[in-house]
Amino acid sequence: MANPNLGLILKQLFSRPYTNRFPVKYAPASMHATMDAVTSGKAQITPPVPAPEHYRGKIAYDREACIGCKMCIKVCPASAIEHIPGPDGKAKGSKVKFYMSRCTFCEMCVEACPKDCIKMTGEFLMADADKNSDALIVKDSGSFAAPAQPAAQQPAPPTA
Ligand code: SF4
Ligand code: SF4
Repeated sequence: MANPNLGLILKQLFSRPYTNRFPVKYAPASMHATMDAVTSGKAQITPPVPAPEHYRGKIAYDREACIGCKMCIKVCPASAIEHIPGPDGKAKGSKVKFYMSRCTFCEMCVEACPKDCIKMTGEFLMADADKNSDALIVKDSGSFAAPAQPAAQQPAPPTA
């Protein structure tokens, strides 16, 4: 009896792969040598496909806006957030930092934050040999505040 999936199998055999060939078109014999070649400009990295909207990637943290309330720490199921006391160990001025090697990307902290100072970004390239490397600890991603709108252009005064 003919395989009912034969048509689909044949179609897939001759269709283009949908896989994003990232970071390079074919698996290299040595990734280190490939990265050296990229660094020296002898090879190029295939760009990754853009992350879809609402993708939950690396956390961004607006440290300036943070009030140190610890709500994010309370809801984090992965103990991925550490409290940093304020000056002289006081609660005032306290902040937090995020350990991406522990994060499960659940977005609970984003939901809980009363100051909207945490967000998930589209960044997903987080492979690292050291789970405590600076790249995997988020301490301050800058302000999320929208840039001030330029003042409305005033009409030029009538000339005499
Ligand atoms: S996304 Fe989830 S696991 Fe990651 S820091 Fe926030 S609450 Fe914790
Ligand atoms: S919930 Fe928001 S404001 Fe409160 S400590 Fe966490 S990041 Fe800061």
